[in-house]
Amino acid sequence: MNIYDVVIKNAQIADPEQEVILRGNIALLNGKIAAITSENIKGKREIDAKGYIVSPGFIDIHAHIDGNMSCGELSLVQGVTTTVGGNCGGGPLNLDEFFRVQNGNGFLINQLQFIGHSFSLRHRVGITNSYIGATENEIEKMKAILEKEFYNGAVGLSFGLEYAPGSSFEEVIALSKIASKYKKLISIHTRLKAPNDLESLREAVRISELTGALVQVSHLVYQYGTGVMTEALDILDEARKRGVNIWADSGMYTSFATGMSTSVFDKEHIREFGWKFSDLYIASGKLRGRCLTKKLYESMRRKKENTIIICNTGVEEEIYEALLKDYIVLSSDSGSSPTGNMGEGHPQNTGTFPRLFRKMVREKKYISPIKAIEKCTLTPAHILGLRNKGRMAVGCDGDLVIFDLNTICDKSEFLGRGRPDAYPEGVYYVIVNGQIVFENGKIKRGVLPGRAIEMK
Ligand SMILES: [Zn+2]
Repeated sequence: MNIYDVVIKNAQIADPEQEVILRGNIALLNGKIAAITSENIKGKREIDAKGYIVSPGFIDIHAHIDGNMSCGELSLVQGVTTTVGGNCGGGPLNLDEFFRVQNGNGFLINQLQFIGHSFSLRHRVGITNSYIGATENEIEKMKAILEKEFYNGAVGLSFGLEYAPGSSFEEVIALSKIASKYKKLISIHTRLKAPNDLESLREAVRISELTGALVQVSHLVYQYGTGVMTEALDILDEARKRGVNIWADSGMYTSFATGMSTSVFDKEHIREFGWKFSDLYIASGKLRGRCLTKKLYESMRRKKENTIIICNTGVEEEIYEALLKDYIVLSSDSGSSPTGNMGEGHPQNTGTFPRLFRKMVREKKYISPIKAIEKCTLTPAHILGLRNKGRMAVGCDGDLVIFDLNTICDKSEFLGRGRPDAYPEGVYYVIVNGQIVFENGKIKRGVLPGRAIEMK
């Protein structure tokens, strides 16, 4: 009889491809799923998972971990085994260096990287004003960098058009054509010039239509969960019906978090959206937990402080309306705090995936457990072109999460109500590339099997 590295026994095994949850045993060997069977099998390490679900590890298609270890910890403990960084137009360039460092040092979970346009590429070619479009020469330079980074293994191109409102449509299309040529994914944080600006979503559809590129619209609830989700979904449904290859991701919260120094908090933008200072609260640094005031706003902007601000804009029911669509997957939008203290920031950083199971599966009974699992595994793997992840099959990567469907829940809270970094409950084991990284509430220090994956 084979002796496997890890054997998980008596589990409720979730297979999102067959859309079933069946009882059985799973074996891991050399980092891969080696057997799924009802027979008795032996391992060097055996886990009795009686009463628990074993699912492919969760894939977080929209985050900003970008190699930050403490931020990665908060993803891991909710069952995420693969995270996608470089979103919203930001994140590292020089991916050859990023991959070398990450894979040299090791990381908790697997990482894929987009190349960001709106901060990263634009800054690299010397554009400092977010309200002006790139020149022809600058566009050519950005195209050349993008081609090099695709060659280095980026999963795609990301736009954060709300952060670079001056980006011209020509600039966006020129870069999108490069993504299409290399068959790369494009993630789009839409331009959103005003509240309920559905034209910005139509722009995302047009980008896919004109270039043929696969497009993923970012954090849909933060963009359109403000009373126009039905209309936004109509636009996407209609485009998909015409054959446009467009998908979207969405989170579990109605309040978004972003940097104080970005154009989202420019005076005109705040006025346009009708936000009061009392709607905006400081989520990082020494003033964390306080609402903004005019005086605080002006002094922080003057100092160009990189503080995180949380803004409550959305309608809760629109979260669920979006996530009921099969083409909309779950995402956290997690990111590190500029101070490095993960005890501040947004509860999405560590609550998103357990919250889906608590809210949509258990409390509201909007979707079945296996449909929720599919949204966190198979569908994002399909969008990302990951054939060995998100599936429960022999030969797939040994990325697994073991949790109790009856108790899994988020415990993280907004500052003032609790801890933004409180670990969720009901997640018992997280296994990455065949190695146990999280076990019964504790991260195993020094176990770093996550790979930065070059998509070539
Ligand atoms: Zn974004």
